[in-house]
Amino acid sequence: MTEFMFDAREGLNKRQQRYCKAIFGEIPPHATVYNGRKMNIAWAAILADAQNTTERFIDDEVLPRIRFGSEPLASSDSHCPDCFAAKHTFHWPGCPIEVCMACRKSGTDCKCKIGYFDGSV
Ligand SMILES: [Zn+2]
Ligand SMILES: [Zn+2]
Repeated sequence: MTEFMFDAREGLNKRQQRYCKAIFGEIPPHATVYNGRKMNIAWAAILADAQNTTERFIDDEVLPRIRFGSEPLASSDSHCPDCFAAKHTFHWPGCPIEVCMACRKSGTDCKCKIGYFDGSV
């Protein structure tokens, strides 16, 4: 049993909390360990689902998403400090640390905003 009681919002920023509520209606007060990182159980499900989105359309081009750890200035962290994606896995699509495969800028600087979740559900 890896599930345990947990502060539902621990580690989740406001944008991530809004996304959780939009998908699940609430943020469940349980944690799990996903890819070696303790996190909210709903967030683990969201991250698992994010692994299914491996590419995105930009104009007429299909481009592969860039995984955590493959950024031009990759950090040595084992997990993304924002969305908790493990190294070599895909970020949550709204993660500002994910690098855009079209302009090679991070989510906060990218103007393409392809699939970027800005909190306005
Ligand atoms: Zn991330
Ligand atoms: Zn971009």
